Amino acid sequence: MTPEPTSNIRFLAPIPPQFSQHQAEQAASELFGLEGTFKQLNSERDQNFRIQTDNGDYVFKISNAKEDPTAIDFQTQSLLHIARSDPSLPIPQVILTRDNHPQAFMTSADGTQHLVRVLSYLPGTILTEVPRNRALFKNVGAVIAQSGVALRGFFHAAAGYDLLWDLRHLVKLRPLTIYIEDTALRQAIERDLDYTLEHIFPRLAGLRSQIIHNDGNTHNIIVSPDNPTKVAGLVDFGDMMHAPLIFDLAVSAGSMTLDSDDPVETLCDVAAGYDSVCALENDEVNLLSHLAVGRITQELLIAAKRQADDPDAPAYVVDDQAAYRKALDQLLSLGHQHIRGRLRDACQFPTDCPTGVAVPGAKEDDIKPLLKRRQASLGKTLELAYDQPFHVVRGEGVWLYDADGRRHLDVYNNVPHVGHCHPHVVKAVSRQLATLNTNTRYLFDNVVSYAERLTATMPDGLDSCIFVNSGSEANDAAMRISRTLTGNQGAIILEDAYHGITESIDELSPAAYPGPEAPEIAARVRTLEAPNMYRGRFADNPENAARLYAESADSAIQSLAESGHGTAAFMVDSSFSSNGILSVLPGYLPAVAEKVRAAGGLIIADEVQIGFGRSGSHLWGFEAQDIIPDIVTLGKPVANGIALGVVVTTTDIREQFGTQIDFFSTFGGNPVACAAAHAVLDVVEQEGLRENAKDTGDYIRAELSRLAEQCPVIGDVRGQGLFCGVEIVRDKASKEPAADIADTIRNRLRENRVLVGREGRAGNIIKVRPPLAFRREHAEQLIKTFADVLKTLE
Ligand code: PMP
Repeated sequence: MTPEPTSNIRFLAPIPPQFSQHQAEQAASELFGLEGTFKQLNSERDQNFRIQTDNGDYVFKISNAKEDPTAIDFQTQSLLHIARSDPSLPIPQVILTRDNHPQAFMTSADGTQHLVRVLSYLPGTILTEVPRNRALFKNVGAVIAQSGVALRGFFHAAAGYDLLWDLRHLVKLRPLTIYIEDTALRQAIERDLDYTLEHIFPRLAGLRSQIIHNDGNTHNIIVSPDNPTKVAGLVDFGDMMHAPLIFDLAVSAGSMTLDSDDPVETLCDVAAGYDSVCALENDEVNLLSHLAVGRITQELLIAAKRQADDPDAPAYVVDDQAAYRKALDQLLSLGHQHIRGRLRDACQFPTDCPTGVAVPGAKEDDIKPLLKRRQASLGKTLELAYDQPFHVVRGEGVWLYDADGRRHLDVYNNVPHVGHCHPHVVKAVSRQLATLNTNTRYLFDNVVSYAERLTATMPDGLDSCIFVNSGSEANDAAMRISRTLTGNQGAIILEDAYHGITESIDELSPAAYPGPEAPEIAARVRTLEAPNMYRGRFADNPENAARLYAESADSAIQSLAESGHGTAAFMVDSSFSSNGILSVLPGYLPAVAEKVRAAGGLIIADEVQIGFGRSGSHLWGFEAQDIIPDIVTLGKPVANGIALGVVVTTTDIREQFGTQIDFFSTFGGNPVACAAAHAVLDVVEQEGLRENAKDTGDYIRAELSRLAEQCPVIGDVRGQGLFCGVEIVRDKASKEPAADIADTIRNRLRENRVLVGREGRAGNIIKVRPPLAFRREHAEQLIKTFADVLKTLE
């Protein structure tokens, strides 16, 4: 029985031409001027002779009269195109006739015209006859990729011909599964085929497509006679068509798995070789397993059908089926998820990120072993956020996706300043990384143009940059500059400040020691009382609070003078982040700065948290506080996740420092980091992110304040722009910090897929600090979820 949908497909090859060897010899001589020893080759469709001559070997090809001349022209033109676009690709060369045509005609006894051509013969061994080896498979992948690249700019009218070997025909071949006798295998194949047709094929529409070779199977790869790992030829351009590029790899990799003991390893080898020449796209690598299995299924079904239709079918039609069945059995029992994971690893794609419909809990089992390995390799003390660890695999804009493909609203991360994986940044980084990445001892453009661009956004005078790799390093350098230039050792910071991890900055980071075992403040460091207008000493005296809080600088300066350290610098994070994200207290920082300067100290504005527009009102936090620092330090958001720290200062300070120390950071300001940093500024400007920080931030504070009115545990809502602190207390009257409730809120928000942080010495302040791409609709989701979570506390 021939099932209906396949009836329009031609499965059997037409009878090949029947010329005598003598006739072929004569024609080759007359038409192409070729003489030599002729030997007929096997061909199902055409009549081919190998001609051995003193100048090399050739194939004389007499086409089947049923062959469409346009289809043959398609092959000829593609070979000519590749010869022009990539002469290094080992493919047959088109030999022209005496009068410079790529083809001629021969007439058979019955008057039928047959198109004839000559191609160069590629010496070597067919892959099936060479011992299997992994290096060879990688090279096969590389050559297939090379052919795709070479064919990129090629088109031909015959490229749309209906071809049996079009992978998309699987839909028509589906009824042929009846020819698979083994019931279990047949059912497995049918299940897989149905999934592919329903879920995979619709995704082909968005893939890059072009004319492809489409037949790099084991019979069409010639291996070098001198090196069993080297591909000496890719032949048979008879199945070319316009199709998704990935088909080329699927066809070849699928074919290479036949007779493999580890078909997944073979798929990986071919894919890795391919990817090394033509980088696969994410969707392509994700679909590859399905398409390779689909191709093997296609081979099996067509062979089974041919055998059923023609008892005299060639032996290989019968023999190959066993190999197809074995490969399918192995691959299907491992499953596509497993194969996809290994393919992604082989091509250095990051951890698989599920796309499409999320499968809750599918990957939850992975968390425990990963956690165990993390503890063993990174230490048990490295804190993880949330009671239920968040296993993240992908980011996009303000969304983070967990290993099960569920998206979470990111209301916490400030490093992806313009949004996770912003395409503008990704592109800039990728292009620069593919072009040049080196150190700043060489002259190159983008570090200079970035320094110019950055300093142009700052007040006059702040016009020289030093590039390092983190906020800590920038602060460390700023303190070194201050100490070197002032000759003083003393530093003034806010109580509970955090400025980083280097040894000298650790002294300036008491917030890193929240527990009772906190070390004493270093002898050369003094801390200022935080200008806290919720629970601080002068909270109920708003008119004089700025002046009164600033007075604690007097005693700090005096104490440093008395201890002989003097004041080198006052370092301040003007978002007062680790103090619990305080609001701006107008006049406070200018008053402190004046006192510090009078004592000979420099002012260092640590913009790691608040810089690049987060404050909403200004690009830089110090502008919102109405001070002009001597040194500005930048970290986290500078390059959207590529490590970069910057110290910006005056030319005078920079030069004085530079004459005393050869200060140089190898990675600092490398071209890739600067490309990312440029892109961040582009996006901040083009997408109006500072303005958005203001509008969305104001909205969030207004809405949270509204919630606070009805909620006894929200003591205060404050901050600037897209940086808000929500202070959680036992009750409003006592203002007793309630870290446990804050922690419950944070974890319940996380359960509801909203990620926030916790801040402050007591840990009772909810930190709302999303990427600046956080818009009104995201804020609405945050507020709604926040309100829902607060209800669960009642
Ligand atoms: N300064 C401030 C205000 C910070 O918040 C941080 C990091 N949280 C740093 C400096 C240190 O930056 P990094 O972790 O990049 O060294």
